[in-house]
Amino acid sequence: MTPPPAAPAAPHPAATYDRTAPAWTRRPPLDGAIDADACVIGAGYTGLSAALTLAERGRRVVVLEAQEVGWGASGRNGGQALSGFQPEMAALRRAVGAADAGSLWELAESAKALLRARIARYAIACDLRPRALYAALTRGRLASLEAVGADLARHHGYDRWRIVRGAELRALVDSPLYVGGLVDEDAAHLHPLKLARGLARAAETLGARLFEGCPAVAVTPGSASGPARVRTAEGEVRAGAVLLCANAYLGGLVPAAARFVLPVATFVAATAPLGARAQALIPGDVAVAEARPMLNYFRLDAEGRLIFGGGGDVAARIPGDPGAVLRKRLRAVFPQLGAVPFESAWGGLVALTRSTAPQLGRLPGGLSWAHGYSGHGLLLSSLCGQILAEAADGDTARFDLLARLPHRPFPPAGRVRAALLHAVAAAVRFKEAL
Ligand SMILES: Cc1cc2nc3c(=O)[nH]c(=O)nc-3n(C[C@H](O)[C@H](O)[C@H](O)COP(=O)(O)OP(=O)(O)OC[C@H]3O[C@@H](n4cnc5c(N)ncnc54)[C@H](O)[C@@H]3O)c2cc1C
Repeated sequence: MTPPPAAPAAPHPAATYDRTAPAWTRRPPLDGAIDADACVIGAGYTGLSAALTLAERGRRVVVLEAQEVGWGASGRNGGQALSGFQPEMAALRRAVGAADAGSLWELAESAKALLRARIARYAIACDLRPRALYAALTRGRLASLEAVGADLARHHGYDRWRIVRGAELRALVDSPLYVGGLVDEDAAHLHPLKLARGLARAAETLGARLFEGCPAVAVTPGSASGPARVRTAEGEVRAGAVLLCANAYLGGLVPAAARFVLPVATFVAATAPLGARAQALIPGDVAVAEARPMLNYFRLDAEGRLIFGGGGDVAARIPGDPGAVLRKRLRAVFPQLGAVPFESAWGGLVALTRSTAPQLGRLPGGLSWAHGYSGHGLLLSSLCGQILAEAADGDTARFDLLARLPHRPFPPAGRVRAALLHAVAAAVRFKEAL
């Protein structure tokens, strides 16, 4: 049977990323029934990494994506590949004890190696460059950053950081806002959508089947009478395992998973290439994340555009012109730049958990999920996708470690949930360090 034509492709919301990444032709949606070892729902880093891992192991994988590869957070994010988790390691040690927290740190470190290995093995050109700076606006905040660095060194042996001030700071970023910062030498930054499309191509090369414009509309767990089933508008996947990788875009598809996460919006804009001015702003070519509430996060891309993110909306609304929120912020960070137009601006959704640590879960019948990276998922989502895939393939050790992180669901919509969400969002924006 001839497959139906792909849904007309809406332009990718992150126009600059879309234009500067290798072109992508939208794959047609699924038409008819298909059998697989695993059905992955969502083609962001979590889902693509899961699909790639399973394809590497010779499994039959189907990926269903409601829009297109990298349409969610993975194709719109700030491109900052940061160490560790959103919560500080001291909080994780309190939550799960020193031994598990040590293993969790090692796990997060392994996400960096995973990224580099895949970039090398599959020749994913995504402009990976080293280093991030957590920038402090006050001396008190700088002292907190130093304390967090010392904690990491003491408890987790992490020594790839240093504190910078004065001329050393200005040699990295030339903003009057900052009094100092913590440089993480082993963090990195990259072009998010190039990475997503590269992972998708790698998975397809190994046999994964990708259907776009193809939302999963119902999931039925497997039972004694048959495998799990995932229904789409025109088709159905029957699979031994269903990996739910829809993160902040999950909606009501699987309420047992959705209750652990709430979406919030954050915004990013790209200037045109700034020529010599770019290097004058960020001479160290580092990714910068501020250590304060309502943080700004920014970096240069490979052509010298300033990619500038910040602001947010706990009601997950994305305004018509997200650039309006960012213009004032940019002026405060780099007053010497004057008024520069944005080439494009967009918003995207981050999935928060109550603890801001990722949440992994599973149900009988072959259904599992990973989500809730709370704005710190560039590296963790790929790692968690790999871990979901391992678990679906019978190797649950790393899944079980992450699943031991304690999580409580958000309460149903109402005043208590709203207050909780504001508190969690404030904690995330007040990202003190690694
Ligand atoms: C604006 C922004 C800036 C960010 N900046 C950073 C940063 O600098 N550093 C960092 O570490 N993290 C950052 N993040 C977070 C990071 O991007 C995410 O944690 C990560 O990309 C999550 O990947 P994912 O695959 O789990 O989810 P996503 O990339 O959101 O993918 C989920 C996919 O599921 C699809 N989907 C949903 N429902 C269905 C369905 N029913 N059927 C089929 N498909 C479905 C969606 O269309 C989507 O493509 C940022 C996020 C945003 C939004």
